[in-house]
Amino acid sequence: MYIISSKNMLQKAQVEGYAVPAFNIHNLETLQVVVETAAQHRSPVMLAGTPGTYRYGGVENLVSLVKALAHEYQQPLVLHLDHHERYDDITEKVRAGIRSVMIDGSHLPFEENIARVKEVTTFCHRFDVSVEAELGRLGGQEDDLVVNVEDSAYTSPEAAAEFVQRTQIDSLAVAIGTAHGLYTREPRLDFARLEQIRRCVDVPLVLHGASGLSEQDVKKCIHLGICKVNVATELKIAFADALKGYFHDNPAANDPRHYMQPAKAAMTEVVTRIIGVCGSEGKI
Ligand SMILES: [Zn+2]
Repeated sequence: MYIISSKNMLQKAQVEGYAVPAFNIHNLETLQVVVETAAQHRSPVMLAGTPGTYRYGGVENLVSLVKALAHEYQQPLVLHLDHHERYDDITEKVRAGIRSVMIDGSHLPFEENIARVKEVTTFCHRFDVSVEAELGRLGGQEDDLVVNVEDSAYTSPEAAAEFVQRTQIDSLAVAIGTAHGLYTREPRLDFARLEQIRRCVDVPLVLHGASGLSEQDVKKCIHLGICKVNVATELKIAFADALKGYFHDNPAANDPRHYMQPAKAAMTEVVTRIIGVCGSEGKI
């Protein structure tokens, strides 16, 4: 009952000019930190998992945890499928209670991408499930998928308009120069292209690959129409670095209730900062 679609959440962000942060979660601790921090700041939030995350955590487990957290904090939550590609996989997870989907056909030729996405929106909209799709291609690594920077391609504004109209998606992920994972070189974002896409397309726009961008760049993207900001790598690094530091200082430690505390504190800092950058505080 408390797991909701992202459609209204993102439309409100679009109208009011802020972005909803979407954090990639992996375990109990990341879920606890993200939801607790979002609730403290009265921020809407999306909890995202790639196919690898759902394999690791278990679909039923993650759905149950998110339901329990939504109940505990009295806050509706979006549990989102990030970069899912297979129709059967998506329909199965929707049946398990998930209400927000990204179907990633961005590696396919235009017409095939449209056909793949349309099949998913037709199914999802019957269940009030919102659908995000991507046009253009980001460089970097997401889950098992590696895209060379040379193979990445920016989103065309005209193609984006046709894509949205024909697929009936609820939000569009754009490629404007961001990459997944950590940046190996200084990212140069194509803000003019983002502005053009915003003019051609009326659904909320999504920014993938925000880890490692400057706050200024992310804020500018939000100002130009981005309504959802994905954060994965930054949270992973904060978690891992704090754990490494703790074990370095306490090599005999073996109690997760102790060694997870600094890791959770480090993630809380990241989540708080991202909510600030997104301008989503107090928006629920
Ligand atoms: Zn992504």
